[in-house]
Amino acid sequence: MTASTHDIEKAAGVLRAGGLVALPTETVYGLGANAEDPVAVARIFQTKGRPPSHPLIVHIADAEHLDDWVETVPAAARLLADHFWPGPLTLVLRRGRRVPLEATGGLETVAVRVPDHPVARALLTAFGGGITAPSANRFGSVSPTTADHVRAELGDAVDFVLDGGPCQVGVESTIVDVTNETPSILRPGGVTREDLEAVLGFPLAVPSTSRVRVPGQHPSHYAPRARVVLVEPEKVVTEAELAQELGHQVGVLLPPSFAGATVKAHALVALPGSMDAYARGLYGFLRELDERGCDLIVAALPVEEGLGLAIANRLLRAAGPRPPA
Ligand code: AMP
Ligand code: MG
Repeated sequence: MTASTHDIEKAAGVLRAGGLVALPTETVYGLGANAEDPVAVARIFQTKGRPPSHPLIVHIADAEHLDDWVETVPAAARLLADHFWPGPLTLVLRRGRRVPLEATGGLETVAVRVPDHPVARALLTAFGGGITAPSANRFGSVSPTTADHVRAELGDAVDFVLDGGPCQVGVESTIVDVTNETPSILRPGGVTREDLEAVLGFPLAVPSTSRVRVPGQHPSHYAPRARVVLVEPEKVVTEAELAQELGHQVGVLLPPSFAGATVKAHALVALPGSMDAYARGLYGFLRELDERGCDLIVAALPVEEGLGLAIANRLLRAAGPRPPA
């Protein structure tokens, strides 16, 4: 199951040779390449089908190395790095010279984080450089939270898959832009807004995808094959049964308030009560409902507090309009 020292050495060799390694982190599995090798970085975009203008995150072994990758480290960035690294927080800073523009989507800023996963950190240490990695899935689809998810979705397109067991956080990192005087959250994730604000001592702006209560205004991302429909929590069962009657194969993410209810639908996932467990399971639940043949998934948005903010953001994006097939 979990990668051996031999596997780590092999993965480091693949990175040195310009190859791609899928690696476990505490958030989701990443598709990694040597951050300083523009050709290897370009392969990430090809493999994912990701537009080259979408920047990647540079993963580093230790907060002490941050200065090597960025132009300057403002006080707020240092404070957040000291407090939350290793952990699911990504900081956007001014790009250092060693970061190729291929990794930043042509931007003069770079996203950096120290992952909190023993296998990821062992690989970073063995490799000795930065690993640039987006999530190890095709562009727009559900992020992988197990090595099997990666193998099923990317297969031979990856040179080596390091298995580190199931991801413990389960949603991507929180991205905070610290290039301006006032830091702002670009994407909610594994570190909560409340925890960031407690350390910074002032409130942070929240991204629009989380505030928009009506889905469909942002193109879909983090999306399963099945269409995702979001309704009020108390309407989940009635909406699911109606859609099933209309001929859909309906999958339901059933809120804990309905625990034990019988629902006339194709497939059911009983959601856990804790937000930690919900975040950890979210992408696996969506994949499971796809695998069970659902064409429609009915879910409710959780309260946007703590990890609920990141979960709501991912569900809203999953429910967004699909690109033409
Ligand atoms: P992924 O988690 O696969 O979507 O990959 C990385 C995320 O980091 C994307 O949402 C990017 O938009 C974001 N990101 C990376 N670099 C930057 C940057 N320089 N400025 C803003 N966002 C960034
Ligand atoms: Mg992604």
